[in-house]
Amino acid sequence: MSDCLFCKIAAGEIPAQKLYEDDDVIAFWDISPAAPKHFLIVPKKHRINLSDLSEEDDRLIGKMMRVSAQVAEENGIEKGYRTIINNGADAGQVIFHLHMHVLGGRPMGWPPG
Ligand code: 5GP
Repeated sequence: MSDCLFCKIAAGEIPAQKLYEDDDVIAFWDISPAAPKHFLIVPKKHRINLSDLSEEDDRLIGKMMRVSAQVAEENGIEKGYRTIINNGADAGQVIFHLHMHVLGGRPMGWPPG
């Protein structure tokens, strides 16, 4: 999508501090971190959120989960981190291109806000 921020980051048109990239996904530091370590896992394909997925995306979602663990380990938070997908405006989604937050480096409370 031409006006989508995360499509532009995935295409290299807008800079981001990349942590990982392959043909399907990209990971980069969140610009406004909510924890000492806070990065995003983003599919290169434009999908609005989980509600926009179909069966053909099953492998992609699996890869997002696996890459989140890999990048967490590479950045020293493998002992504990939280993955979050804000799905829809009521859940706090602001960027309407699917992304998984990965937060670590501080104790996490429960329930989340
Ligand atoms: P959401 O609320 O949609 O789940 O999360 C969007 C996230 O994207 C926020 O944590 C926000 O800080 C991050 N973000 C917004 N714009 C940019 C940007 O231009 N670059 C990076 N790296 N992160 C961004």
